[in-house]
Amino acid sequence: MRFATVEYQGRTFVGAVDKAGEKVTPISVGDINDLFRGARGEPKGPAIALSSVKLKAPVPLPLRNIMCVGKNYHEHAREFSASGFDSSSTGASDAIPTAPIIFTKVPQSVIGPEETIRYPTGVSEQLDYEAELAVIVGQGAGKGGRGIAKADAMKHVWGYTIINDVTARDIQRRHKQWFLGKSMDTFAPMGPWAVTADEVDLATAGIRCWVNGELRQDAKIADLIFDIPTLIETISAGITLLPGDIIATGTPAGVGIGFKPPKFLKKGDVVAMEVDGIGRLTNQVG
Ligand code: MG
Repeated sequence: MRFATVEYQGRTFVGAVDKAGEKVTPISVGDINDLFRGARGEPKGPAIALSSVKLKAPVPLPLRNIMCVGKNYHEHAREFSASGFDSSSTGASDAIPTAPIIFTKVPQSVIGPEETIRYPTGVSEQLDYEAELAVIVGQGAGKGGRGIAKADAMKHVWGYTIINDVTARDIQRRHKQWFLGKSMDTFAPMGPWAVTADEVDLATAGIRCWVNGELRQDAKIADLIFDIPTLIETISAGITLLPGDIIATGTPAGVGIGFKPPKFLKKGDVVAMEVDGIGRLTNQVG
């Protein structure tokens, strides 16, 4: 199933989105985190046309953290290392990580579908996009979220959404650590909604990104260097995962710095991204 956080006639609520992506039916939960904790929302009230609501980021604040994975597709790891922007690598010989690279983005950087990615004028001149499958952690059948073995990891996945891991490449390079260049206000567009795990076939799902209609990224989720069970085992080894935690799993090749010369985002650019089974997330740079 697909669940959206929507604003309609001055109210914000969670609704189930139909298969056609045309209607949303309000359901009986406080907010979407209740679903991640195991609640089963029941329909309440009539379906509303999606065209008449404002979609918000599916997972609302307060959000504990957005855990992110760097360099998690082979081709992207190579393009990033070769770009000269990768302070974590000294060249082709160590382009492919031997253990997951985990960093985080400030939760308040999250915006919803169609909201504006604010160009950080005067702060960065090298803005880039990164389409990513984002895992939404669930209750895990009542088990604690620490020390999760790979074999049990998928029981802790409630579902998925899409995140654009917007990055200021000049800031990322200058400051070595990635936090600053990835956490600016509006740098985490999320959506268009949250889907339950059964909606995405990880073995076959594609992930794509367009800038102004030009296809830039086109890959398979199955090409992840470190798969979702490995990421969950790695993170939960010492950090208890909680329902509603988000893990952005990394971006495939085709980001702006992968081109020669680089194709950085400009004001007015429209970035659209899709993951099969989820939907399309679109935001404009302004
Ligand atoms: Mg990323």
